[in-house]
Amino acid sequence: MEPTIVSGTEVSNKIKEEIATEVQKIKTSGGKIPHLAAVLVGDDGASRTYVNAKVKACEKVGFGSTLVKLPADISEADLLAEIDKLNNNPDIDGFIVQLPLPKHVDEQKVTEAIAPEKDVDGFHPVSLGKMLLDLPSFLPATPYGIIQMLAHYNIPTEGKHCVVIGRSHIVGSPMSVLMARNTYPGNSTVTLTHSRTQNLKEITQSADILIVAIGKPEFVTADMVKEGATVIDVGIHRIDDASRKSGFKLLGDVKYDEVAPKCAFISPVPGGVGPMTIASLLKNTLLAVQLNSETLIEN
Ligand code: NAD
Repeated sequence: MEPTIVSGTEVSNKIKEEIATEVQKIKTSGGKIPHLAAVLVGDDGASRTYVNAKVKACEKVGFGSTLVKLPADISEADLLAEIDKLNNNPDIDGFIVQLPLPKHVDEQKVTEAIAPEKDVDGFHPVSLGKMLLDLPSFLPATPYGIIQMLAHYNIPTEGKHCVVIGRSHIVGSPMSVLMARNTYPGNSTVTLTHSRTQNLKEITQSADILIVAIGKPEFVTADMVKEGATVIDVGIHRIDDASRKSGFKLLGDVKYDEVAPKCAFISPVPGGVGPMTIASLLKNTLLAVQLNSETLIEN
């Protein structure tokens, strides 16, 4: 069977075009141009790549963007002070703090210091609580991206068995909530699996939709997947490969070559969930402008 490739590149390009059109309209009407800031602490190669991609995406759609680069040895207090500045800067509609942070900084404290109305990564307890209550809010960027992929390809979700592998706060757990919501995409019967799950293979074999965020290269093999399933691969791993100019190749959490022939739909790595995460961040920033201007009117 030839699977349909769930192309995050394609869907994210479409979303970016829609956002660019929206920015043009805002410009024409003299409204506030959305402005996203990204905070990068230290000089980790992967984090730098992710942040640069986010800044570049902002420029492409016509958003303002600011990169706040801070040294790896910044104190927690100084980092919190930088966050406070962004919270109080009226020109910044939303901002993210790229994770992971250096060991001496409490990530949870930093996440909670971000003003909920600027929390475009959707990691703040207020954002996650609103998601649970179906209130308008910022959905965490990666799960939101996956939701948009499923919708774009009209992948049936109602009454389906959706198995999520991984229960991280930024991917697996919110993903399981979104797939169970009373809407489309959603209305699935969800099983959330994790490191203590027993008989994982038996569970994944009954998945109509399998969303994999375990963080282990090529963990999911063909024998774990049902014929005709939809498989969404969140994992991303840089593996050294001397035969490539870049010196590395990217692998997902799914053994793509052997799993793909069994699938009705499958997302590749690269070109799958990754670009969608950035598109969601842009969508959330646009939403921040809208939500915050409504708040101002109400006040
Ligand atoms: P994480 O490392 O925080 O969590 C991994 C989860 O896997 C844990 O909840 C753990 O309980 C579960 N797990 C471990 N062993 C298991 C087992 N044997 N059976 C079932 N579950 C098991 O991961 P994360 O932050 O959610 O990221 C997962 C992957 O997705 C990573 O490769 C990460 O790089 C990638 N990622 C990609 C994007 C993107 O935009 N493409 C965004 C976020 C994360």
